[in-house]
Amino acid sequence: MHCLTFDIEEHFQVSRFDSPIRRRHWTTFESRVTPNTCKLLELLSRSQTRATFFVLGWVAERHPGLIKQIIECGHEIASHGYAHELVTAQTPELFRADVRKAKQLLEDLTGQSIQGYRAPGFTITRETLWALPILAEEGYTYDSSVVPIRHDHCGIPGADPWPHLRQTASGPIWEVPPSTSNLGGIRLPIAGGSYFRLLPFPLVCQLLKRIARQGRPLVVYFHAWELDPHQPHMEGTFLSRLFHYRNLDKMEHRIASLMSTFRFAPIAEQMNFSSIPPLEPAVFPAIPPAEIAQDVA
Ligand SMILES: [Zn+2]
Repeated sequence: MHCLTFDIEEHFQVSRFDSPIRRRHWTTFESRVTPNTCKLLELLSRSQTRATFFVLGWVAERHPGLIKQIIECGHEIASHGYAHELVTAQTPELFRADVRKAKQLLEDLTGQSIQGYRAPGFTITRETLWALPILAEEGYTYDSSVVPIRHDHCGIPGADPWPHLRQTASGPIWEVPPSTSNLGGIRLPIAGGSYFRLLPFPLVCQLLKRIARQGRPLVVYFHAWELDPHQPHMEGTFLSRLFHYRNLDKMEHRIASLMSTFRFAPIAEQMNFSSIPPLEPAVFPAIPPAEIAQDVA
């Protein structure tokens, strides 16, 4: 069994189009998150597949019925934070307030304990590792934000690419990184986002199957807006627009195809966190430079 995950946010909230001015106008843009998520729920229901939904608190506050619908379909609700601020743009105090607010809101709406967190833009990096003990203190069981890649605004090259228990000064927290694969000597996040949409689909499938053959659980990730090829286009650089809008019309077919190839379950069920006893508390191990060099060699 593998893990299928979705980040539930509006099409205008993505980090690559974010700006303080645009953020002030969030409430004036057309909301499309409900129809997009409903499309997703239908797609999952047709394949009898359940998944983890990392919901943005801002969205949950405005669309409580949608959150209840996701729960009624048997999916896991997890937190994508409240305001979609990159962790790298926050202080530890602001980050704590953001993840606390989102967790409380989602727990009030669902009546369930929220176990998982995923940072906007996967921005738990070497500089923001202080976020992990805060997540543990705030009662999160797992994080899915540390990507073992070299990238300009996210990633920790050389980090463990597989789900593992991580020790922090405030106790243990599970890390469930999205799947990555080595391609031409470079580790790439092929299991979602722009890489999944831009690379040839047969190649991505081959790489995902290779991970599965190693006996590793896949962690794939998509966004509600990726099922919406008719969303209004935002202004941005050529590359931002290429990475955001390319192949959106193919996503429904691709996600359905993945669901017929692999068996998926929500992260909280698949990882069975409670079955493995916590290790001795320790601080973060430093990643040896040799590992980093190997990763990008
Ligand atoms: Zn996001």
